[in-house]
Amino acid sequence: MEASIAAQRIGIVIVIPMREPSMSPTADGFVVDAEGWLPEVRQLRSPHVDARPIGTTIDLVVIHHISLPPGEFGGDSVERLFMGTLDATVHSAFEPLAGVRVSAHFLIRRDGSITQFAACGARSWHAGESRFLERDRCNDFSIGIELEGTGDIPYDADQYRALVRLIHSLERAYPLVWIAGHSDIAPGRKTDPGASFDWRRLHTDLGSGRLVRPF
Ligand SMILES: [Zn+2]
Repeated sequence: MEASIAAQRIGIVIVIPMREPSMSPTADGFVVDAEGWLPEVRQLRSPHVDARPIGTTIDLVVIHHISLPPGEFGGDSVERLFMGTLDATVHSAFEPLAGVRVSAHFLIRRDGSITQFAACGARSWHAGESRFLERDRCNDFSIGIELEGTGDIPYDADQYRALVRLIHSLERAYPLVWIAGHSDIAPGRKTDPGASFDWRRLHTDLGSGRLVRPF
């Protein structure tokens, strides 16, 4: 169901289309609160977040992969990167990340466990310079989901299950229409989620094909 929030600022009425937040857990989804936090999901509040432009419709999901050091799973380096606490001197692979301020709304580990770093209503810094269907700055209007992975090692079945459950939950809270890989919106600069991400499987598992990947 569509709801509208009218905000009055300096005499201008701005209408932000938003679905009503889900109020109770459902069999196949998570609660999404009014700010866009999922209370059932582990939360770490990244400082690498700011406000979306007023009036932005959140209609895109962007899929990424990440692992730090690359190819090593299970440590806390990705969390530290997103929280701004990664010590870039402890591994040579971290040196280029010194001072880098990035985040994502969600990280899905190999075992399917989810951590949320930013409220979906806020703008997390996951996409960088990017363009989707004639629109620049994809961070403004997208939700970024990182999968722990490399792009060449197959993703775990638990990750697909968690991703589907997460997307279904977000679809109930936001007017999502589109889905893309980081490589789709930053071609030549980014390769994630990579060749090992099975888009066909995701579309099948999502059912109904409601989110469209126009690439
Ligand atoms: Zn990415």
